[in-house]
Amino acid sequence: MTPLQNKVAVLFENGTISLMIGFKTAINKLPVPCFINNASQVEQLIFTPECKGNLSVYLHKIEVKQAQKIGILANVATLRSLVQLTSENQLGAIEKTVITINAQNEVLVFTSMEEVEQYVQANFPAYTDEDKKLLEHLNSLTRTERWQYWTEQFSACVKCYACRAVCPMCYCSSCTVESNQPQWIKVSSETTGNLEWHTMRAMHLAGRCINCGECGRICPVGIPVHLLTAQINLDIEKEFGAKTGYSCKSGYAMNTFKPGDKEQFIK
Ligand code: SF4
Ligand code: SF4
Repeated sequence: MTPLQNKVAVLFENGTISLMIGFKTAINKLPVPCFINNASQVEQLIFTPECKGNLSVYLHKIEVKQAQKIGILANVATLRSLVQLTSENQLGAIEKTVITINAQNEVLVFTSMEEVEQYVQANFPAYTDEDKKLLEHLNSLTRTERWQYWTEQFSACVKCYACRAVCPMCYCSSCTVESNQPQWIKVSSETTGNLEWHTMRAMHLAGRCINCGECGRICPVGIPVHLLTAQINLDIEKEFGAKTGYSCKSGYAMNTFKPGDKEQFIK
């Protein structure tokens, strides 16, 4: 068994966890999420650089919450979402053990969010070169050109909502796009409704998106939708000095205000 599998087996045997959310290899050799219920199943667990999925999205599922003692395998993006979700008071009732593998290939087990927070702050990820390049390009455009870029991108959106399903920060049990009394956003895929959907999504994730990039990676028509929230995060960091998924303390930039705020409307 690998050191990871050994460690998880021990956690099952000593009763620390009753469910492990991790990755296994699928038939097409790519990693897929897996749910393990006992030590005899740990040999399917893997953790490779290809394990990019953000498994914290499953912590919102009722079936998972019922397990009570949850182990979760986490890459840095997942660790960031655990920190952000804690700051939004979303994980309080879940007893969880967080496992990662660091750059030195050591298996680390965190039993408190303080430990996760410290690790995240010491290993805070940068934007990928590809994302930086596209963001720089978009920022070099005029507002009209940028608007045209996103209008064209979003006109291809088929409203499958995979970007929402995969996002750990999209956890409302009822979403505006499914409301039909009133119907805020058109159901069918067409340019105006698509823009409305993506504007609403970006604003709801402003200063909350932890830049895991999963929404862009999963989009079946290749829209780099994660860059919209990535840019908003950069703007929020510049204006308010707030990094997402960095601190477990509650009060992210968009749900707090200070009496000395420079905007008049808030006073
Ligand atoms: S995943 Fe892509 S196609 Fe599906 S709703 Fe999101 S942006 Fe649109
Ligand atoms: S990058 Fe996309 S999937 Fe990840 S937290 Fe941000 S909006 Fe959600």
